[in-house]
Amino acid sequence: MTSYEALLAAIQAPEGQGVQMKDPATGAVVGRAPQRSEADLDAAVATARAAQSGWAGISHADRSASLNRAADAIEASAEALAELLSREQGKPLNGPNARFEVGACASWLRANAAFELEPEVLVDDESGQAVLEYVPVGVVGAIGPWNWPMMISIWQIAPSLRMGNTVVLKPSEYTPLSVLALGAVLNQVLPAGVLQVVPGGGELGAGLTAHAGVDKLMFTGSTSTGQAIMRSAADTLKRLTLELGGNDAGIVLPDADPEAIAEGVFWGAFINTGQTCAALKRLYVHESQYDQMCEALVDVAKKMPMGVGLEEENVLGPLQNRQQFDIVSGLVEQARSAGARILTGGDPQQDQPGYFYPTTLVADVDNDNPLVAQEQFGPALPIVKYTTLDEVIGWANGLDVGLGSSVWGTDLDEARAVAARLEAGTTWINKHGAVDPRVPFGGVKKSGYGLEFGVEGLKSVALPKVTSW
Ligand code: NAD
Repeated sequence: MTSYEALLAAIQAPEGQGVQMKDPATGAVVGRAPQRSEADLDAAVATARAAQSGWAGISHADRSASLNRAADAIEASAEALAELLSREQGKPLNGPNARFEVGACASWLRANAAFELEPEVLVDDESGQAVLEYVPVGVVGAIGPWNWPMMISIWQIAPSLRMGNTVVLKPSEYTPLSVLALGAVLNQVLPAGVLQVVPGGGELGAGLTAHAGVDKLMFTGSTSTGQAIMRSAADTLKRLTLELGGNDAGIVLPDADPEAIAEGVFWGAFINTGQTCAALKRLYVHESQYDQMCEALVDVAKKMPMGVGLEEENVLGPLQNRQQFDIVSGLVEQARSAGARILTGGDPQQDQPGYFYPTTLVADVDNDNPLVAQEQFGPALPIVKYTTLDEVIGWANGLDVGLGSSVWGTDLDEARAVAARLEAGTTWINKHGAVDPRVPFGGVKKSGYGLEFGVEGLKSVALPKVTSW
């Protein structure tokens, strides 16, 4: 078990060096994030390359045992990790937030340790034999965002290590301490050199993307950065997994029960205070249910306390950074000036420290309003009224992103028929954003490509190798 103080001391830059990270709820200094140079990156990639053949040379069972020990290590230091995550990212300890995220890191490691990936016999007859196996890619570069910094890092680390790759990870410049702490805890049990965390800004990410010593890049972040990565990966023909932005639609069908679904819809939209890639970001409600759905959501929203992450009663926190606060405020103001009705929220307190934006529900907003058409990535949900199914499916599919989506109703066959018409990597029914380490996850359109999780996720950090005789 590692205490909070010991964990922070192990990862932060010496006094007077590094970049000061501040708690987005209070402005208090959390710690000093070290900054690595291009030369440090080169050294990390060289270390990863040197460690890779030894790591690939041990059995799947031995690597799985390491992953399980890594999960034990996370559980042993769970409170210290959750506290640091809460202070640096802003998310509360409770609710589906910091403790939940740390717990998910352990579960993802255990799930990846347990998956079976047997060789596939493709041909076995008088003409001969052919077998398909999956071998390591080599060194995996991983780049992550600031919203779920530990969990998304584990999504990249766990399958990569399981398959015999080594990993060099560049965390977001907004949440480096959280990922350094995660790496330090994992490295209590992993062999030297198989996992390294290299903190720095976008330019260091660009260096990792272009690096000739990196064989595969896993990226989670915005669509525009994903496009830059794709361009720069061309020179080395690097394999890519791109988990990019989304603007998920949720459709409430005429037979839904607004009271019964309100809490599920609320958390689908407001998990992590709306700063979630696959959160419900535009809610479409049939005109026959519109007023009841709006009322039921306001009732739920008023019961959910927002505040400083370390205060146990809170389940919603601040936005992580000023830039995101300004994006959310600007989009809500555009909706308000276009005549939309603010049902609750919409007026951040100016005299309060921190980037708190109140839980905001916006009704009577047009489908082409920027609050609907752009990814707000914060606690402001537009609620759009629709009349016909064809109309709402056209709206849901009308954007160039397609990460998740959801359909809410009591007739499951009807809900599944609507789900089949939605352009998204995942469509949930009567829930939204529920990820499971056994179930592949990924986007379509400009939400990216490549799958994470499950056996498909293992295959995406491996090379298919056919042997035929
Ligand atoms: P971002 O694209 O600004 O930054 C992500 C990472 O990319 C950071 O580590 C950053 O330093 C790095 N980076 C910046 N420029 C780079 C470059 N030229 N080359 C390589 N790396 C570079 O994203 P963000 O603001 O941190 O995250 C929010 C976005 O991420 C939202 O759009 C959200 O929807 C998306 N997201 C997607 C998923 C998913 O699974 N699809 C999950 C979480 C977040």
